[in-house]
Amino acid sequence: MYEINETHDPNLKSWVESANDPNTDFPIQNLPFCRFRHPSMDVVEEGDYHPGIIVGDVVLDLWYRSWWADTPAPYEFRGGAEYDGVTPVQIRNETWNEFRKSVSNSLSEAAHPKTREAMGKDMFPRAECEFGLPLFIGDYTDFYCSIYHATNVGSMFRPDNPLLPNYKYVPIGYHGRASSIVISGTDIKRPHGQNRSDAEKPPVFIPCKNLDYEMELGFFVGKGNELGEPIPISEAEEHIFGVCLVNDWSARDIQAWEYQPLGPFLAKNFATTISPYVVTMEALAPFRTPAFERDTDDPQPLEYLGDEQNRKFGGLDINLEVYIQTEKMRNENIEPHRLSLSNTKDLYWTIGQMLTHHASNGCNLQTGDLMATGTVSGKEKSERGCMLELTWRGTEPIELPSGETRRFLEDGDEVIMKGYCEREGFRRIGLGECRGRILPAE
Ligand code: MN
Repeated sequence: MYEINETHDPNLKSWVESANDPNTDFPIQNLPFCRFRHPSMDVVEEGDYHPGIIVGDVVLDLWYRSWWADTPAPYEFRGGAEYDGVTPVQIRNETWNEFRKSVSNSLSEAAHPKTREAMGKDMFPRAECEFGLPLFIGDYTDFYCSIYHATNVGSMFRPDNPLLPNYKYVPIGYHGRASSIVISGTDIKRPHGQNRSDAEKPPVFIPCKNLDYEMELGFFVGKGNELGEPIPISEAEEHIFGVCLVNDWSARDIQAWEYQPLGPFLAKNFATTISPYVVTMEALAPFRTPAFERDTDDPQPLEYLGDEQNRKFGGLDINLEVYIQTEKMRNENIEPHRLSLSNTKDLYWTIGQMLTHHASNGCNLQTGDLMATGTVSGKEKSERGCMLELTWRGTEPIELPSGETRRFLEDGDEVIMKGYCEREGFRRIGLGECRGRILPAE
């Protein structure tokens, strides 16, 4: 599952010219999955999207599949007249990977003119398409797997004891809410909530004052497990289909008052934004890294959370960038300003460990379930993946090129997240964008 094959060949070019642009996120080596629709399609109902694959500036429609009739289906569709969109009921990586080879062949320069012609009819310009959530997300779990983020946040609240004793043993997480996950580009309304910033007085119910984002990597369950059947660490990655960008919007003032003793609740579940494309684990094969190198006095993971493969290849080398563009910056045509650049290789736990831990008590994971890593922060100040850390709880405001400052997000601010992988000897691939703009509270 970490093997490099002909689909990763850096010299492979596509007859889709835009896929050969060195700056594209979507060369033929990437081929992420999505669900989309185009104005020209016969849309049956609101939620009706077609499954697709992104290559360069186009979306390849997988609905009709006339051009790959001889290859296995990437997944089964839930049939019948009452479908609420296209919902894969199971995604198996080995089937997907076969399918990917066939799509890669058909999109390569070497493809037969008849293949090109047939495929061309199933292609739409990406800029004209509207994207839905890439899979039906039944459940969503958010982890807390950056030790730098956990240490920074912990030290603001507990200066003497920033990291709790369970951190190096347990991939810490909480159950989030799937219903409020929205696709990139959706506006985010500032939530109301209980605020008790004045400890002398009772709490007040007001619009959130300390609205924040969290830069995270999300990953989708492809193949589920039966209730009561844990997933061994050696098989964890067979259950992970691919990754996306996640913005875990966070209301810090609400969070500070409500989080004890049961953890995050309304401070988190008013909205979570994800990017529309699933970059598959197969596409990420060239960008695997060893798991986090623990300090010599740190405990090793308990046996069920570690094996040789995970230690050697369980990490991911994905660069994550966060930009902000305020309303003033938009009006004055000032480019979005970069707030941070971090990397998933700095996560204390691997995504395989997160998944295995999640299922270790027999909890059943299902196709389409989304998990997120938690804020991805690094050692340096420029690698802090949320405003809480960047402004140290609002005490060190950020200066913007417009002359404005920010402690937390203001109405009209747009947060733009990007992700990409680069490695010598391989083609750069990207995750696309995850955007959201803050609307005033009602
Ligand atoms: Mn989070």
